Amino acid sequence: MKENFLGVDVCNYDYDQLASLLMQDIEHKKKSFIVAINPEKIMKAQEDEALRTLLNRADYQIPDGIGVILASKLKGGQVKSRVTGIDMMLKLCKTAAEQGKRIFLYGGKPGVADAAKTELEKQIPGIQIVGTLHGYEKDEQVIVDTINQHQPEIMFVALGSPAQEYWIVNHMNQVTPFVFQGVGGSYDVISG
Ligand code: UDP
Repeated sequence: MKENFLGVDVCNYDYDQLASLLMQDIEHKKKSFIVAINPEKIMKAQEDEALRTLLNRADYQIPDGIGVILASKLKGGQVKSRVTGIDMMLKLCKTAAEQGKRIFLYGGKPGVADAAKTELEKQIPGIQIVGTLHGYEKDEQVIVDTINQHQPEIMFVALGSPAQEYWIVNHMNQVTPFVFQGVGGSYDVISG
């Protein structure tokens, strides 16, 4: 169920469908990652083959920008409604809370992931955010060990794009989570 925009794949799942696929991935111990696609990324990927390969390597490319919806409409496609990065993150947090899955928040300035954790705990009863780490720790081993110490199953990575997507593909097999999502500046938005 993917549609191609100038060489970049986009899937047309809605929030509920994607959340249930992600929970299945966790059950099957399958590693998967989500990337948010907007017209700016599609344009950048025209001249940057490594970026295009990276975006297409994601398991789920969500149609974050309204421009993607309009482009799909123009070519008679099926991608009909936006799935934004931040709303997908919130949906995944709620589903994880219902199903007892453990979450880790990585990235952002010192204190920001902690502030987002506090806010998410207020908004989503039962959520288990088992750890956080800011995005300016440069020791790879410290990063990997900090994540694994808490045995999370879902991880959000906020290092900006495409740094966060490169981080995910380069580390997904070294850390315990099965589901990864690059979320850019979302912690700042959540913590207000
Ligand atoms: N960031 C980080 N470590 C770095 C560089 C950036 O954690 O080495 C964080 C930064 O604090 C910010 C996020 O990455 O929270 C980038 O957000 P931005 O809104 O620029 O990304 P976008 O949403 O545009 O991808």
